[in-house]
Amino acid sequence: MNYRPDDYRHVNYLWDDAAAARLGPVEQLVYRSNLLGADQRITNTGGGNTSAKLIETDPLTGEQVEVLWVKGSGGDLRTASKEHFASLYQDKLLALQPGYRAAPATGVKTQAEDDMVAMYSHATFNLNPRATSIDTPLHSFIPHTHVDHMHPNAVIAVAACRNSERLTREIWGDELVWTPWQRPGFDLGLKLQELCTQHPEAKGVLLGGHGVINWAEDSKGCYTLSLDLTERAARYIEERDKGAKTFGGAKFNALAEEQRNEVLREVLPYLRGSVSTEAKMIATLQADDAMLRFVNSVDAPRLAKLGTSCPDHFLRTKIQPLYVDWDPAQDSVEQLKSLLCSGINSYRDEYRAYYEHCRRDNSPALRPASPTVCLIPGIGMIAWGKNKSESRVTAEFYNCAVEVMRGAEAIDEYVALPQQE
Ligand SMILES: [Zn+2]
Repeated sequence: MNYRPDDYRHVNYLWDDAAAARLGPVEQLVYRSNLLGADQRITNTGGGNTSAKLIETDPLTGEQVEVLWVKGSGGDLRTASKEHFASLYQDKLLALQPGYRAAPATGVKTQAEDDMVAMYSHATFNLNPRATSIDTPLHSFIPHTHVDHMHPNAVIAVAACRNSERLTREIWGDELVWTPWQRPGFDLGLKLQELCTQHPEAKGVLLGGHGVINWAEDSKGCYTLSLDLTERAARYIEERDKGAKTFGGAKFNALAEEQRNEVLREVLPYLRGSVSTEAKMIATLQADDAMLRFVNSVDAPRLAKLGTSCPDHFLRTKIQPLYVDWDPAQDSVEQLKSLLCSGINSYRDEYRAYYEHCRRDNSPALRPASPTVCLIPGIGMIAWGKNKSESRVTAEFYNCAVEVMRGAEAIDEYVALPQQE
């Protein structure tokens, strides 16, 4: 399917042929990345990456060589410039495969896979100092010129469904091949390479529990394909939207703005003190209709417990938000305070237990165990971060999580990632 520019309802079509024509190949990759990153429905802040395999003149030999330009670690697609992209000899990246395959044990989380990460910098083209990301082999091993890896809410909604494989076939036919959740790395790169051989007609792969990766031979084609795939998922969800029955319907009503502010004036300073024991936190409050529908719903406690579906979201929103079972129509502000207090305490205990349970020798250190997202019926979401922009991004990420859950529950049943991740 191919939508015309004016047909898109769930993403913004921003490509300008005249603007793109003035750009060189790398600049056009940057241009495409900025357009994709500008629409939060296509990818979240700091999430997703893009690449192009381009012919460059080798500074060592003067020969024409194939170079993979791929969004590196750090920064955001919306604001990325050329220096946010790593450049690597494509033939050297491919030459890592026999060594990896010869290792005694290969696969996710093996020593062989970990060892590969250190090898990427040996493939650096033209002394480019930008560090590559763990997604590099995904882009390199897909044998197509332009590759986009995005985290669109509508696509993750499908990727987070119990019947994600069947739904992938139903929504995208043969264009997207389904693959189960696997942590990005060398091994996933090899799997994608294999899928490309097995499905020469496919235009991309649905990454279970994660997002989508798709390709084309020209930059504009890759851009429109990323939009197309997202639009189709969003329309499929829209047609099945549950309206007032979303999230099992409403259990509570939102408070009027004046009442809400009254509660917040009492509760916010108290709550801020409670979550700031390790580091001072700043709050972002969100009380728009979509968020209120979620926090007020019958299913909110069940869904909040399931945690987020996108690995990117973990770091920001921890494993799950703190939901307090407060009835805004019946209960007092004092009761809300005491629910928050006991909620935070048991949240910390559970988080420590979770960390100990999932800990491996190479696990990162335990992060502060206070919740970064609090959900209060009648009030909305309060997201926390070390500064204003961090707390805004936390809010954005949980917003995405709510959107993903809404979509998944409209078409099927939402399932979260395994805890270990
Ligand atoms: Zn990703």
